[in-house]
Amino acid sequence: MREVMLIKLGEIVLKGLNRKNFEDKLIRNIKRKVSALGDFQLINLQSTIYLIPQGETADFERVEKTVGKIFGISRYARAAQCDKDLTAIKETAVKYLSEILPKLRTFKVESKRSDKRFALKSPEISAAVGERILEAFPHLSVDVHNPDITITVEVRDFGAYVRGDSLPGAGGIPIGTGGRAAVMISGGIDSPVAAWMLAKRGVELVAIHFASPPYTSPRAEQKVASLLKKVAEFAGKFTMITVPFTEIQENIKAHCDEDFFTVIMRRFMMRISEIIAKKYRCKALITGESLGQVASQTMDAITCTNDAIKMPIFRPLIGMDKDEIVEIARKIETFELSILPYEDCCTVFTPKHPRTKPVLRDIQREESKLDCEKLIRTAVEGVKTTEILD
Ligand code: ATP
Ligand code: MG
Repeated sequence: MREVMLIKLGEIVLKGLNRKNFEDKLIRNIKRKVSALGDFQLINLQSTIYLIPQGETADFERVEKTVGKIFGISRYARAAQCDKDLTAIKETAVKYLSEILPKLRTFKVESKRSDKRFALKSPEISAAVGERILEAFPHLSVDVHNPDITITVEVRDFGAYVRGDSLPGAGGIPIGTGGRAAVMISGGIDSPVAAWMLAKRGVELVAIHFASPPYTSPRAEQKVASLLKKVAEFAGKFTMITVPFTEIQENIKAHCDEDFFTVIMRRFMMRISEIIAKKYRCKALITGESLGQVASQTMDAITCTNDAIKMPIFRPLIGMDKDEIVEIARKIETFELSILPYEDCCTVFTPKHPRTKPVLRDIQREESKLDCEKLIRTAVEGVKTTEILD
């Protein structure tokens, strides 16, 4: 019995003329990901991609985990392939599902016949397979409304497939179809989630992290790299750029009114990120900001931050509650890493009374006390890059 994986395309099926590009990209992404797990043939037919192992065996547990993290897939399922022959289909169903069926109580069979030359119609296939399942597992009963498992039989052009329930895919659209953007990444809960959300929309990532040694430790930087590694499991490999930020923070602290500290610091972050992002051919920045979460994330503060640069800033979490963000962080397995204690450059120099309604004129006055251009140039020249592998 040959086991394969059936992969259903997600939103791609809604694309018009561009559909072929999206499909090609998805297939390339799948190929690249599964090539580490064995030799597979990929066939794309009727909104389904067939992943067929070429060797003797394939570790489908790992294939399942990997495919579950590829954007552009709505559902996927392991399936047994057999001849387009009713007896073969019935016996394959009994054998392939022999581990799971004893643990369940109810089932139903659904059939799809895209090969119209196959003699039996879909309801007839379902009835015959259902009967055989009941004979082999007499403790089971049929429940068409709320079954413990739906057994699906698909009779396709080049074979028949039997499977249990499919699993939800990662959704979204394939990485590489949405352009490239630079995510500003801290060690917190929010920015890894923001990175994941834009990757889900097909965006290729670059990551920018501001570090302030010796106020922040190498351990904090390592933590960011570990977080990004989790994101890369979905987003594919990318570059992390670490920016030295100590001199800038010390200068702001020494020369500017403390109340404006955070907004001024964030404007520096934006300007530096914009320069780096352009170098890496990114067309936007991504942050993990959420409206009203902290003083620097009020509408007025965001207005002052936005004013610093021209490049669009994507804030996918802007309307989300912390609980909702945490739910995603748990799902993508970044949460446990994010809550490890660490120092972030933003938490090292925090004013006692940050302005929640800063006015641009005040900020500009405070910034005029600094040699902004020189500070920015020095920071950009001092960056360090790390490759984050998927
Ligand atoms: P997070 O959980 O992502 O740290 P936060 O709620 O702690 O976010 P802030 O510390 O105000 O909020 O940061 C807001 C956003 O600014 C972050 O989501 C991130 O995109 C960016 N940011 C904060 N600190 C850094 C840093 N050290 N390097 C790069 N970007 C940062
Ligand atoms: Mg933070």
